[in-house]
Amino acid sequence: MRIVAWYTAAVDSSQEPMALYSSKLTSAGFNHAFFTRYGGISEPPFDSLNFSLATGDAPAAVQENMRRAGGVLGVPAEKIYLLNQVHGVQAQQVHGDDPREEMLRRDGDIVFSADSSLACGTRTADCGPLLFADPRSGLVAAAHAGWRGTVAGVVAATVEAVARLGVRPEELIVAIGPMIERCCFEVGEEVAQTIAAAGAAGASVIDRSQAKPHVDLRAVLVAQLRTLEVTNIVHVAGCTQCRPDIFHSYRRDGKVGGRMLSAIVPRA
Ligand SMILES: [Zn+2]
Repeated sequence: MRIVAWYTAAVDSSQEPMALYSSKLTSAGFNHAFFTRYGGISEPPFDSLNFSLATGDAPAAVQENMRRAGGVLGVPAEKIYLLNQVHGVQAQQVHGDDPREEMLRRDGDIVFSADSSLACGTRTADCGPLLFADPRSGLVAAAHAGWRGTVAGVVAATVEAVARLGVRPEELIVAIGPMIERCCFEVGEEVAQTIAAAGAAGASVIDRSQAKPHVDLRAVLVAQLRTLEVTNIVHVAGCTQCRPDIFHSYRRDGKVGGRMLSAIVPRA
């Protein structure tokens, strides 16, 4: 599969969080960011831009990181809506007056909204962050797609959730952010088969050139999107495990580590 990098990296060593962007989403009028691990204040092993309180980082550091992310996204930190991600398919529509703390405790892997006062976000470190945008209505969604969520159908659940609000799949722009890529995503045979069966690309997503199977989860996500008639797919590529200089990685760093934020703001 051809990976096209539509992103530009914005780096400011002083205060600004470093993020990757899709120029296609930007030119369609959507504020968004795939944040990297840089530009925050968290200490190792969460350094420095970490958005999770669940792995042991100092709450004040996460709060400041979130504030900086809000600055990039153009919304206050308390309007960045995230769920308690469980590798499932539950979708949650959010509005600017919803209590954020309550949403943070709610299980789900898809956040969607048409309210331009807020951002829909997802936290990842190897799993795929997907940002959906409907240029016609301005509605957006953020989804969390690791291999379990991908197999469970989180992509279809997202498209179905926004379709209920009148969004046509063929009009969606979907940007797939940095995730563990085929180079590092080594799995057992059974998992490889399970993931391959989840997309129309089938066994072509399994690389057998090494001792153990390596899976191209990005290609599975693309195949699923195409089956749903979503063809406007953008790759903001980069392997989270290969690049400790840019990304947090659960596989590389273990459970006690940072989590990145990817988020998108509905267009008014
Ligand atoms: Zn890699």
